[in-house]
Amino acid sequence: MSRFWSRAVHDLEPYVAGEQPKIPGLIKLNTNENPFGPSPSVIEAIKAAAGDNLRLYPDPSSVKLRQSIAAYNRVEIDQVFVGNGSDEVLAFTFAALLKHDLPLLYPDITYSFYKTYARLFDITVEEVPLVEGLAVRIEDFDRPCGAVILANPNAPTGIALPLADIVRLVESHRDQVVVIDEAYVDFGAESAATLVSRYDNLLVVQTFSKSRSLAGLRVGFAIGQRPLIEALERMKDSFNSYPLDAIAQAAATAAIEDANWFEGTRDKIVINRTHLAAELETRGFEVLPSKTNFLFARHPAHHGIDLARALRERAILVRHFNKPRIADFLRITIGTEQECHQFLTAIDQII
Ligand code: PMP
Repeated sequence: MSRFWSRAVHDLEPYVAGEQPKIPGLIKLNTNENPFGPSPSVIEAIKAAAGDNLRLYPDPSSVKLRQSIAAYNRVEIDQVFVGNGSDEVLAFTFAALLKHDLPLLYPDITYSFYKTYARLFDITVEEVPLVEGLAVRIEDFDRPCGAVILANPNAPTGIALPLADIVRLVESHRDQVVVIDEAYVDFGAESAATLVSRYDNLLVVQTFSKSRSLAGLRVGFAIGQRPLIEALERMKDSFNSYPLDAIAQAAATAAIEDANWFEGTRDKIVINRTHLAAELETRGFEVLPSKTNFLFARHPAHHGIDLARALRERAILVRHFNKPRIADFLRITIGTEQECHQFLTAIDQII
């Protein structure tokens, strides 16, 4: 607290990201990073971009990158917005599209940054409780509201809704914006990007941080019809003309153009996930059905916080949320085969 702060700063509740400690030999399964590096063509693109041209400002509208994203998702380039990580895209979305007289709806257990943005932009919210099994029940969103945001698959549960449920949600809210945050969609869920041409109230948000293995680069994007994208552009151009630097634009373009690398690394993660889930179940864990690059699991005889602490003592980091209903769960990022093996060995020692 300081007398120099603007009044709004006193009321903020900043998001707490997973820790990034420098522990030698650390097995880092706490922030859903990809265990495999980005495509070699991404590194080449970065080297090529790191030259004399850095004296120039980057393309403020990231045309090449948006073209690649549009082609990949079979939409028009002007239906694509890019930002400095999907967190920034989400921040612009909250400010530009989600503040109305009626409350914004999202599940009571979801990506906790939503609450932070709502507070930052002074948006009234109504949390919709997850049902049995920590699942989203789409009919529960049939209530008066100003807008809806849903992570699909949801985080930190990892559970995905089928596309039919998203269609139902979008159709039952024709006069509200529905945002689908698809940070983890590439690991086995169905993207709603295919619905954008049909629904003017749908905005789909994705990231390069997980399936494209570029968390360090900070690139995310949104796909929607023109009026929604234009709102984001207006917000961006009132905040920072160049949210994506020249290196990020070049590298992300290379990433989206290397389909082989993307599919190969994604498939390995899905295989490791299936294996790890089965191994945890053998050890008595309840594992929620995941369509992401992480598992959300609890053991009937061990508190989540104790397991997380004991793993940490063995230089293995997982994410634990000290919140009602999920305090006994661990969120475990899917690592390499070797990392999953070391994680299981540690679990065997602990339990
Ligand atoms: N949405 C969800 C559901 C997430 O879990 C994350 C990662 N913390 C993000 C968005 C943001 O990812 P990024 O800013 O790295 O694109």
